Amino acid sequence: MSETARDVEALGAARAAVLERIDRACARVGRDPAGVTLVAVSKTVEAARLRAAVTAGLTVLGENRVQEGEAKVDEVPGATWHLIGPLQSNKARRAVEAFDVIESVDSVGLAGRLDRLAREVRGSDPQHPYPVLLQVNVDVDPAKAGFAPGEMASVLDHLAPLPGLRFLGLMTIGRLADDPSEARATFRSLRELSERLRGGAGGDRLGPDLSMGMSDDFEIAVEEGATIVRVGRALFGERHEA
Ligand SMILES: *Cc1c(COP(=O)(O)O)cnc(C)c1O
Repeated sequence: MSETARDVEALGAARAAVLERIDRACARVGRDPAGVTLVAVSKTVEAARLRAAVTAGLTVLGENRVQEGEAKVDEVPGATWHLIGPLQSNKARRAVEAFDVIESVDSVGLAGRLDRLAREVRGSDPQHPYPVLLQVNVDVDPAKAGFAPGEMASVLDHLAPLPGLRFLGLMTIGRLADDPSEARATFRSLRELSERLRGGAGGDRLGPDLSMGMSDDFEIAVEEGATIVRVGRALFGERHEA
């Protein structure tokens, strides 16, 4: 068997195993697994292996760096690309050009810039605004990006008039904890925040998506209502980061 065929087989098996775990988490809480999108986090994974990943059915890929992502977009056809890492405003244009969804919008200024760029780069079709998620720093951890939960109502007020963006929902990064119940508290808080915001003033512009859960805690996130899970190591193995 060629190396590519081996990669496709191994990644297909890893995908099936993660989907099975998502299915079982859904079954525990009475959810339909069709409501959960698996984003395969492909940072540090080389393009050849990602082509195998797409062949194996991992067609939604997540990158945390604009430069790394845009290099791969051309080399890996057939995938939908999510930006999941911090975005500096001087790279916003390239991000809009390369990525299909930006999950990590963490300031009103950045949203305003993306709104203008989306209309400029992608055309101003009001039927197809550019999809983004708003990153929330649920635990107000100084080491993490994202809006504070308490400012979200006023943030939505500021974002509501932007015609070029579609706010799919909220994204968060769970706590790095040995105790999974701490991650659960974070995920539950994000879901409750989303419910409050969507029931309140201006809430009609915010969609129901909840992007939460990574390799160590995606099942807990699914139990707490995740509609997007971002899974890297459980699919591609440990990263060897420089
Ligand atoms: C790297 C990364 C992930 C995936 O982490 P794994 O532990 O490899 O599953 C998810 N979300 C973000 C924002 C990341 O940077």
